[in-house]
Amino acid sequence: MERVRLEGSPAMADRAADGSQPAELPVPVAELGEGPHWDAASESLYWVDVPAGLVHRMDADGTHVSWDAGQPVGAVVPRASGGLVLTARDGFLALDTSTGAVTPLVPVEPDLPGNRMNDGSCDRAGRFYAGTMAADESPGAGSLYRLDPDLRLTRLFDGVGISNGIGWSPDETRMYYVDSLAYRIDVMDYDPATGEIGRRRCLATLGHGDVVPDGLTVDAEGCLWVAVWGGGAVQRYGQDGRLEEIIKLPAAYVTSCAFGGPGLDVLYISTAAGPGTSAGALFACRPGVTGQECHPFRG
Ligand code: CA
Repeated sequence: MERVRLEGSPAMADRAADGSQPAELPVPVAELGEGPHWDAASESLYWVDVPAGLVHRMDADGTHVSWDAGQPVGAVVPRASGGLVLTARDGFLALDTSTGAVTPLVPVEPDLPGNRMNDGSCDRAGRFYAGTMAADESPGAGSLYRLDPDLRLTRLFDGVGISNGIGWSPDETRMYYVDSLAYRIDVMDYDPATGEIGRRRCLATLGHGDVVPDGLTVDAEGCLWVAVWGGGAVQRYGQDGRLEEIIKLPAAYVTSCAFGGPGLDVLYISTAAGPGTSAGALFACRPGVTGQECHPFRG
């Protein structure tokens, strides 16, 4: 494990490096771990194992519990009205954590059985943004959606390859988005009052061949932390799109990351099975910067 600070990144240079090396957490190794989400209300971490259809939670005392969604699941977000909301093969699902019951909430693309939902995230108002992809990764088969708290579903755009990371600047005037097959981190203007997005343009390019950008989170300084699938790393980008820092991991397929812990100073990083001595493990490190809170779905 190695942490690399790049030239010309003075903002990071004087930060304490203590705890900055990623440490493997004592939880089950995933086939395709995804979507870490810190729930501040319960001080617990949620994440999923996509093909296994498993939703995992680790509590503050280290207790681990999991639920079986019964179908591939792309992301998990706590629901303000209770339980969890999942993005899954059939659309948005509700999971009752006390009984384990999984029920349909809002179907997505029922006319496209080859598609499934993938990564997703909520803004501060609790709108749930999540996209779809073809299970066989056919280019352009996916779309990005917004699920409002009143359960109204809106398709924002189509032509997506693999819909992945979604995040916002601290003032929510910018929304960031990754279509992995486009090898780009994109940025759109964002209106936090209405949830409307503006013109989509490229912030940074990332990857080549089987190395692609995956999940992302935005820290309290407005910089992006992007998981690099096939690249064994999380990379930090400035608001100007400049690569500032690289956290290397002993797993090639790094899938997503999120800040958590009571001080929001721990970066949780998910990975998938594949090359690497700790492939499929969940990692935590303290990169020396705090994150923004993960938000629940307010429907
Ligand atoms: Ca992903």
